[in-house]
Amino acid sequence: MADSTHNSDKLHRRGLMFILSSPSGAGKTTISHMLLMADDEIRLSVSATTRPRRSGEVHGVDYFFVDDTTFDKMVEQDEFYEWAHVFGHRYGTPKGAIRKGLKEGEDFLFDIDWQGTQQLYQKDQQDVVSVFILPPSLPELRRRLESRAQDSAEVIDARMDRARGEISHWAEYDYVVINDDVDECFVKVREILHAERMRRTRQTGLIPFVRELTQ
Ligand code: 5GP
Repeated sequence: MADSTHNSDKLHRRGLMFILSSPSGAGKTTISHMLLMADDEIRLSVSATTRPRRSGEVHGVDYFFVDDTTFDKMVEQDEFYEWAHVFGHRYGTPKGAIRKGLKEGEDFLFDIDWQGTQQLYQKDQQDVVSVFILPPSLPELRRRLESRAQDSAEVIDARMDRARGEISHWAEYDYVVINDDVDECFVKVREILHAERMRRTRQTGLIPFVRELTQ
């Protein structure tokens, strides 16, 4: 991983907490993967969840899959930055290395819902940047859910109901991007990340020639 914090010819900066939220089917998972592949200065914050593992998912990579007792213990021991009930299961962001990483200029990607986003803002306003990915329309979202051919009509209806609930929180986000075309949407999300890294308030240390001019 590139390390900007110990490189004397760069401005030192704090890391950021980059949140991507969207209703299921709007393309958030694809965009997250594209971002993680393209940018080696950001890493995924792996959540813990009580929901069962889906085929292809890997413990410790996609999620930490834990049982209810373990999740209860983690809550008791204050191990979560935030946690929430989502679709009948519990999901939480473990504190892990995040606080220390932010200080050292590491960026973290969060694939969490609106409840988690609100909690992260309450805890750490200065480091959070949130992006909401919208589908182009509700009929298009339904079409995308149907084209996955994974779910029955009832499951798709339930997903559409949840999507309406999730979308109702769009105005709580810093940025909103419509995913009409996944490549274009990815470019926009990456531009947001690049610009936010250069925010003046994130520059915590100065390279020598700037320091001299400032004193
Ligand atoms: P899935 O079960 O499909 O992976 O995720 C369901 C929903 O839970 C998604 O909207 C996802 O963003 C959200 N989610 C995943 N991890 C967390 C977390 O740690 N905290 C919160 N609040 N939501 C999460």
